[in-house]
Parts: sequence; C-alpha cells; structure tokens
Amino acid sequence: MDNLVDAFERVLGRPNVLFGKEISARHFSDWSLAPALAPDFLLRPNSTEKLSKILSICNSRNQPVVVQGGMTGLAGGATPQSREVAISLELMSGVQEIDPVGMTLSAFAGTPLQVLQEAAMQYNLVLPLDLAARGSCSIGGNIATNAGGTEVLRYGMARSLVLGLEAVLADGTIVNSMNKMVKNNSGYDLKQLFIGSEGTLGIISRAVLQLQPQFQATHTALCALNDYQSIIEVLNAFKRCLGGGLTGFEVMWAGYYRRVLEVLPSLDDPFGHQHPFYLLVEYKGNRVEESAEWFASQLYHQMEAGFLVDVLVAKSQQDAQKFWRIRDGIGELLNLKGVVSNQDISLPIHLIEDFSQELLMELDDNYEGIDALFFGHIADNNLHTVVFSDRAEDGRAIERDIMELIGKFGGAITAEHGVGVLKKDYLSLSRNDAEIALMRTLKQALDPGNILNRGRVI
Ligand code: FAD
Repeated sequence: MDNLVDAFERVLGRPNVLFGKEISARHFSDWSLAPALAPDFLLRPNSTEKLSKILSICNSRNQPVVVQGGMTGLAGGATPQSREVAISLELMSGVQEIDPVGMTLSAFAGTPLQVLQEAAMQYNLVLPLDLAARGSCSIGGNIATNAGGTEVLRYGMARSLVLGLEAVLADGTIVNSMNKMVKNNSGYDLKQLFIGSEGTLGIISRAVLQLQPQFQATHTALCALNDYQSIIEVLNAFKRCLGGGLTGFEVMWAGYYRRVLEVLPSLDDPFGHQHPFYLLVEYKGNRVEESAEWFASQLYHQMEAGFLVDVLVAKSQQDAQKFWRIRDGIGELLNLKGVVSNQDISLPIHLIEDFSQELLMELDDNYEGIDALFFGHIADNNLHTVVFSDRAEDGRAIERDIMELIGKFGGAITAEHGVGVLKKDYLSLSRNDAEIALMRTLKQALDPGNILNRGRVI
C-alpha cells in the first residue's frame, strides 16, 4: 500500500493525496440513501495528464476506483465501496473557451453547472441544462448521468448538448474527442459511450457543449383539468401550435397538489376549489407582446374545446414563481415523516394514468396506511411517485412492487438519476438479456480489469 501512496504522490504531490481524517465527509456519500463509506484515499488530479497517470497506476495494480464529481447523484454511484480509491474531479474546473460564433463552450469536467450557465449568459447565450443541484453538481457528473432537469422538453437531456468530450480510459489512455461541429459522421460517435454510462467506461475530463440564444419573453399558466385524456389532448395541441417555444409541461395529480398546499400554507390555492389534475405550462418567445397573445389564444382554444376547465395566466414574475413553488413543493414533501419511496421513472405517455391507478390499487391491497402522490414532466414520459407509509419497514417491498409494475408497463426504472448501485438489481426489468450482454461486452472491452466504478450499473 505504501508503494501505491508513493506512486500517487509522485504524480499529484502530497497535498492532493488525502487519507484518513484528511478526507472531508462530503466524499463519503452522494445525496442518495446508499450507505456512506470513507474511501481508502482521495486523489485530486488537476490535469488530464495526471488523471491518466493515476488511472494507469490503479489499473496496473487492480486498484478499484470510484469517480466523484459534485456528489449530488441520487443513485449511489459516487459513494465509495469497500477498498476503493476516490478520484475527485474538483480541481479540474473552469471554462476553457467560449466560441460565440459556433455557440459552443468547452470546459473541464469538474466545473459546477451554474458556473457554466453564468459564463454563457455573459455572451447572451444559454446552456440549456438546469436542475436544482446546479450550484454543486459538475458538468462531468451531468454528462456521466445524462442528466435531465427542466429544459428537456425543448432541448433534450444532457446527451443532446454534448458536441464532444475528452475521456480517460481505465488503463490511462486519453481519448480526445473534443469535436465542436454539429455534423461529424466520421466513424463511430465515441462520446456516446461515456454519456450516461455513470463513470463505468471512462472518466470524462473535458467537454464541448452546444449553447443556444436566449429567449426574450417567458409566459406561464396554471391550468385545471378533469381527466388524463385531456392532458394528452392539450399536450399534442401545444406541441403543434407552440412548437419549440413550449418549454414546460408539468402535470400534478390532485393528491400531490393538495399535499403541497397543506405543507406550504403561505401558498393559497389559486383556484379556490379542487380539480382532479393541474398543469403548469411555460412558453417562451422572442416578441414579447405577440408571444403573449399567441399563448393566450392557444389556452383559450383548449378551454373552448373543453380540455382545460380553468386557466390562470401569470401576470407577473411573482405569479409565475408562485405557480412554480407549487410544482417545486416536492422539496418540502420529501422532508416530511413517512416517505418510504421516491421514484423517478419513465412510461409511455398514454399509459401513465393507467400505471398510477394500478399502482394505487396494488398498494391499497397489500399495505396499510399508504398515501401515493404523482407528478411529473409528462411530455418527457417522466413520472415521479412519492409513497408515504406509517411503516418504514415496508419501503423495500413497495420499491420492488413499483419496479415490477414499471417492467409490466414497458417503462424505465430510472428516467433521470441513473442506475448506480440502488437500481442495479432491477435493471433486467427495463433492459433485455441481449442489451445487458452488450453492456457487459463494452465494459469488458474498455475496462477489462473492472476497476472503474465496479459494481455500479451492471
Ligand atoms: P456525482 O454525484 O459526483 O456522480 C454521479 C455519477 O457520475 C457517479 O456514478 C459518478 O461516479 C459519475 N461521475 C461523476 N463525474 C464523472 C466524470 N467526470 N466522469 C465519469 N463519471 C463521473 N438529476 C437529473 O437528471 N435531473 C434533475 O432534475 C435533478 N435534480 C436534482 C436535484 C437535487 C436537489 C439533487 C441533490 C440532485 C438532482 N439530480 C437531478 C441528480 C444529480 O444532480 C445529477 O445526477 C447530476 O448530474 C450529478 O452530477 P454530480 O457532479 O453531482 O455527479
């Protein structure tokens, strides 16, 4: 072990090889419920070349490694396991270049997402990736988990923003694929191997991201609906008429909406009486007045057609923030006593209500004192389920029931957060044998010693 320390220190210098009490507790666990553990060492390379050298050392000695970005992951992927050395990207941080003509941004993988968002804004451009962990999560972690967030409907997940990247393989090989062009079909698109593979195939060290122009105006409305079919009708109509300006389509089932308003009494119910479903719609445009009129006219058409039964259009930024506070009340709900399951899953849009009904029935039949709440980015197939129970010990069984039902409905066990360690046992409910076998082949080819994020994903 001493030799290993010496080898790491020769590459990184003593201050960047930490062990024992020198390692801050924030490296023991990500934000998930995976059990925390201190890594054997914490290594902090500050360049791709040093990262390459320490990986090569680990590989030659079969030393398992856990990759750490901002530690905000929710699947336990960055949480150390027994005998692992943690490699943190925190010193590989900063914007390398912004190209305002090509609208691209190149950055080191450890850079916090918010730093990149702010850098883009200085050029009147946006990096259209946003999530509540923006201040802490790193762009490398975002890419490794193919993060989603609130901009997916318009711009897609992190994958669709990545033009190029640089990754270091388990044996230390540096794969420089820092492409800046939208079109490049010269051979395999290698960056895709590393996007969403949760650090199991290589460590992302830099990335090139596609920026977008800013919209001039944002319009927001909170709507009430009677049934799920109306939600589908409105979604399809808005997709047709609002096109790329439709940037938010957040559905809340009545149970979720009511519970948030109970927990946040400062937020009165803006409708005064209850409805089965609520919809938060956001539309962005460039001509402020014209886009406001167009948005209002589309809402009016949907009311005339009977799909929307009530509509409140935000008259100010404060109104819009209030509507979003209801949607974002999940933060407060998760702090309540009795949450035994919090799932982030995907389903075919037309099956989402059938799934929620069947789940409610199953939970009612099999468990006592259950309350299940639903909300989600329906347009992205994404449903969140939160289950409360007086019996914490039912949590694991409830989770398995939910996962099995997702399998039955042909859904995905994780929509955004990834598999990590927490969903690994359920992977076969969403992926078939041939798919999992191909994942293993890729892992074997790129990391034959299985040192990178061992035991995660597959
Ligand atoms: P980490 O937690 O450090 O790591 C996550 C995984 O990626 C681990 O497996 C790790 O080993 C690997 N990894 C990290 N860096 C690299 C790298 N450079 N190269 C290779 N592998 C690497 N996620 C969403 O998708 N959408 C949301 O809306 C969302 N909201 C969130 C809100 C909150 C309050 C919190 C706490 C989390 C949320 N998340 C969300 C989850 C989390 O923020 C994302 O998964 C984020 O992308 C993780 O980035 P990170 O830098 O913190 O990664």
